[in-house]
Amino acid sequence: AKRSSRNCVKIYDRGEPNQLDLDDSIAELLRTALAAKRVSLVYQPIYNITSRRIEAVEALMRLTGSDGKSVAPDVFIPIAERMGLILPLGLWAIRTACEELLTDGHVPKVSVNVSVVQLQSPGFGLAVAAILAEANVSPRRLVLEITEGLKIEGKTEAIKSIRELHSMGVEVWLDDFGTGFAGLSCIREITFDAVKIDRSFLHASSAPRGAQMLKNIVDLVRGTGCETIIEGVETPEQLLVAAKEGVDYAQGYHLNRPMPAEGIRALSPWGKEALK
Ligand code: C2E
Ligand code: CA
Ligand code: CA
Ligand code: CA
Repeated sequence: AKRSSRNCVKIYDRGEPNQLDLDDSIAELLRTALAAKRVSLVYQPIYNITSRRIEAVEALMRLTGSDGKSVAPDVFIPIAERMGLILPLGLWAIRTACEELLTDGHVPKVSVNVSVVQLQSPGFGLAVAAILAEANVSPRRLVLEITEGLKIEGKTEAIKSIRELHSMGVEVWLDDFGTGFAGLSCIREITFDAVKIDRSFLHASSAPRGAQMLKNIVDLVRGTGCETIIEGVETPEQLLVAAKEGVDYAQGYHLNRPMPAEGIRALSPWGKEALK
């Protein structure tokens, strides 16, 4: 959500009076996107820092405009949420990730981002169970990433969905930890399997105060019994920092850019050079 606001700000900053027109054209695109096959998934590996193995790949949605250019998810996801289209799109993403990468053992797990709108929709857990059964995929190989910005408090249906998914064996990770106001109450109220620390903390860790904060956040998360993931690893130095702090998993451009399923299949699951 924060990056969506960043993108919106960018649009507003240009002083364009036609933000609504832009939203309309994206809405139009979204309405036919599934049928027109204009949505796709790319995947980014998440490595176990110690074993150097791929632990999971994160699915990231892409939308291609009629001009062939792609629209950023930060821009189209909020619009899809408002239109109620996030429900079919979100289920499509889970189904597609299962079909593209979980029908064999090439990657252990796939993580898919879910929005609170999906979690709040009654029957979400059942729909996920149906997709897994249909694809003949173990629930333990699916991870759902929930962004901290979701303000879970009072959202009883969303909490119910999370508990339901958990009891089915689906892993649940908290995304963007540290960016919202809800993070601490979130990790207090809900059992997450892992917490993804927002990349801003890693990027700020080259300064002494930033380094201390990252250390404290990692310790805080670990203290709740969750595994830790650091995202946005862009340099060898940042990878070293993550390793030094004892972070469990790492993801970022320094390791791999997001890529189509074929790219993931071509990767060796062993011995990532950058992690040696
Ligand atoms: P996110 O879940 O925090 O995903 C990580 C974003 O960081 C992705 O942007 C990824 O491409 C980018 N990234 C990966 N490595 C690096 C790095 O080293 N440095 C930097 N600066 N960025 C890196 P992307 O693909 O544009 O997605 C943006 C956001 O859109 C995601 O943030 C997620 O919140 C949302 N999103 C993407 N796909 C879906 C989806 O299928 N469903 C839902 N509900 N949201 C999605
Ligand atoms: Ca994510
Ligand atoms: Ca983030
Ligand atoms: Ca994130």
